[in-house]
Amino acid sequence: MAIFKAVILMLVLGGLIGVFLGIAGQKLYVKPDTRVEDVLAMLPGYNCGGCGNPGCAGMAAKLVEGAMTVDKCRPCKPEAREKIKAYLAEHQEA
Ligand code: SF4
Repeated sequence: MAIFKAVILMLVLGGLIGVFLGIAGQKLYVKPDTRVEDVLAMLPGYNCGGCGNPGCAGMAAKLVEGAMTVDKCRPCKPEAREKIKAYLAEHQEA
């Protein structure tokens, strides 16, 4: 009988914690910044580190933050640089 009570208690606790985590997940949801992914798609993708970042993803994040300019990426073609600059000018942080 004691094991039956323990199983019921664990089921109830599991259900309560599940409901709490579900509500907390909805209330605390942070909408991801898609600009980093968009800029990353426009970079060459060589991950050469020539810009001083460990890869293109780091460069994309810094470009979106405004901490770097796209001119630091030497492999990036001029058309792509202009495209990234135009994108960042158009999609400034709200
Ligand atoms: S220099 Fe350009 S291609 Fe190389 S890692 Fe940086 S952003 Fe990527």
